[in-house]
Amino acid sequence: MRIVVHGGAGHTGEVQDGVETAVDIGWKLLGDGADAVSAAVASVVVLEDDSRFNAGTGACLRADGSVQTDAAVACNDGRLGTISVLEDIANPVQVARLVMDEDFDALAGKGALDYARSRGITTTTVIGSEKPWAGDTVGAVAQDSSGAIAVASSTGGIRGRLAGRVGDTPHWGGGLWTDAGVGIAATGVGEAISRRLLCFRVARMMADGLSVQKALEWGIALYPPDIVIGLIALSDTEGAGFSNSSMPWALRQD
Ligand code: ASP
Repeated sequence: MRIVVHGGAGHTGEVQDGVETAVDIGWKLLGDGADAVSAAVASVVVLEDDSRFNAGTGACLRADGSVQTDAAVACNDGRLGTISVLEDIANPVQVARLVMDEDFDALAGKGALDYARSRGITTTTVIGSEKPWAGDTVGAVAQDSSGAIAVASSTGGIRGRLAGRVGDTPHWGGGLWTDAGVGIAATGVGEAISRRLLCFRVARMMADGLSVQKALEWGIALYPPDIVIGLIALSDTEGAGFSNSSMPWALRQD
């Protein structure tokens, strides 16, 4: 079993305690027999509830002052759920988790909000926060005792971007990827991540034999240093996090 959690590329190490709390929650669940999806989602919920991070209650503001969130959950058994431009939900990752079990993969905007309500998720005014730079997206990758791997991510996007803009977080292959023996989540400038299909390409490097650490270094090296990017990943045997900036992250494994 193993779990790795991040609190966003570009985020200060002062919030490391929040990431440690989140990883410990997921790790305890795994020890108690929870599946990888439950553990990854639980860790992300902890960070969505911590307003120091750019997700859920602490999501950054768009150009028009609105708060819109994106989130994704995937499992290497083939399930994927994503939501985009969701408003008035404190824990968007829980909506993505529900979508994962539907016969569709992605919901956006009003449809996503209506769906969340119809599934009993409470709506609330999410005030968000005035973050200087929004590199505080959160994510988790977990592997349970059966070997299944799950990825969960949640973000408020990038501060000041247009309302309706969707970054990499719900972008399959860009912001997240999981397949046999691999799970990866990205953070940083979403457009740069999506355009290079970053998580899928890093997974391919792992499949070709690179260690998790070396594959993450390969992925980050695709970018110039002024484009802030971070990655976390698990394989069947190891886990790591790596960024070209400060990025709080934590790993637990047995
Ligand atoms: N990747 C996110 C986005 O572009 C932002 C972040 O990771 O902080 O929406």
